Amino acid sequence: MTRKISIFDTTLRDGEQSPGASMNTDEKLMITRELLRMGVDVIEAGFPVSSPGDFESVQRIADMVGDRASVCALTRAVDKDIDAAAAALKHAQRPRIHTGLGVSPSHMRDKLHITPDECIERAVHCVTYARQLCDDVQFYAEDAGRSDYELLARVCQAVIRAGAKEIDIPDTTGYSMPQEYGKRIHYLMDHVDGINDVTIAVHCHNDLGMATALALAGIRNGASQVECTINGLGERAGNTAMEEVVMAIRLHEDELDAHTDIDAHEFTRASRLVQSITGMRVQANKAIVGSNAFAHSSGIHQDGVLKKRSTYEIINPSDVGACASRIVLSARSGHAALKHRLEEMGYEFDKDTLNAIYKEFLAVADHKKEVYDEDLESLIHEHSRSLCAIYTLEALQISCGFPSKPTATVTLRDESGVSTTRCAWGTGPIDAAYKAVDLIVGVKNDLAEFSIQSLTRGMDALGEVTVRITADEGSVFTGRGSNGDIVVSSTKAYLNALNRLLIARRSRSKLDK
Ligand code: MN
Repeated sequence: MTRKISIFDTTLRDGEQSPGASMNTDEKLMITRELLRMGVDVIEAGFPVSSPGDFESVQRIADMVGDRASVCALTRAVDKDIDAAAAALKHAQRPRIHTGLGVSPSHMRDKLHITPDECIERAVHCVTYARQLCDDVQFYAEDAGRSDYELLARVCQAVIRAGAKEIDIPDTTGYSMPQEYGKRIHYLMDHVDGINDVTIAVHCHNDLGMATALALAGIRNGASQVECTINGLGERAGNTAMEEVVMAIRLHEDELDAHTDIDAHEFTRASRLVQSITGMRVQANKAIVGSNAFAHSSGIHQDGVLKKRSTYEIINPSDVGACASRIVLSARSGHAALKHRLEEMGYEFDKDTLNAIYKEFLAVADHKKEVYDEDLESLIHEHSRSLCAIYTLEALQISCGFPSKPTATVTLRDESGVSTTRCAWGTGPIDAAYKAVDLIVGVKNDLAEFSIQSLTRGMDALGEVTVRITADEGSVFTGRGSNGDIVVSSTKAYLNALNRLLIARRSRSKLDK
């Protein structure tokens, strides 16, 4: 039997830290459910001290997970962070506190203003303190990828003695080369007493496009936990993508002496879910989950694949759940059929929510003959967005053409149930609608990105719009909306981004108090 590599998912923490990818608790729970279906070993649920919302998310994720995975909460090497993490994990069945600090010359000198000896002292303190509150403590040596080998070994030695059970050696800045990073792990395995009794974890970033290669180099040299995210979501260029590292391990199991317990059939669905929730789309040529990942168009390749798949295909697409969408439902489908299909897709709802989704489903089915899984997912997300909205779209009327002036009349309802209607004109129908929304909401922002995508094939497909706006000194807010009418999807997406901005302002002002 090969070594088991534990999969530590940080989509909900590191992934969420990527600009514009913030998620609310319900969205995080949807992703958690999917992570459990895949069988991940550890879920990093958040950074509880950072906001009341994060604290609550960690609590609710721990409730949902039960004993099916470890639930981890991040902290700095600061007592109050560790207290917050322990409090958020209070009811977790398998809690883990993840604490640590920077160990590279630049982190110690320029960020923390400490000497190497003080660094070790703080590392020991945070682990000792966390161990008083939680049995399972993981230490991270931030920016280990740029640290001094000898100091890193001393830090590891000290935190093992202090009771850390896992030690994470992150290449926080994505600076390393795979061979060098592997050598670093090897050095630790050789020079730290008792290292075989703890788990060494790799956490790599993709700044040079090598996050997956780095993680594999770490595994080859003795690491047995990989930190990763779905779609490689994460700070800057992102993290190691779970689907990539898991499939690489699977295809090279003997060579790496390693396996994981992940059910890869879920990858395509998980990827779509995360894209849909965060608005961070993967490129068509993304490994494993991109829309072209298994497409062959050159004549020579097609000929080969038709003769035998394995000539040009190293992975069977169905092994990662990449099968064509199938028609599921139509306007004639009843409640029970919808409920059944949603359950097959991994969603469970209470009666009221199901009724609400059914109503929206009928509206879509009215326009569209065939309703696909992607359409249902989009309905579910549309519904969950509507639950946390400050403003909702009540009515939209557009007039445009040539040479008339594009004009929009928009009615929005606010939380207290008051409806307001405004009219505006613009360079096109979407511009006019956005201006009318601005007249009601009145929040200054810049539209940084606008994209539209068809969810499935055919002229009647739902159009899903993603917008990103910047406001409040560069914060990015993502909004999404889907509808059969792209002007409606566009308006909903803009409103969703504004709602997120307003909610963020509210929770900030609560924190300031
Ligand atoms: Mn990171």
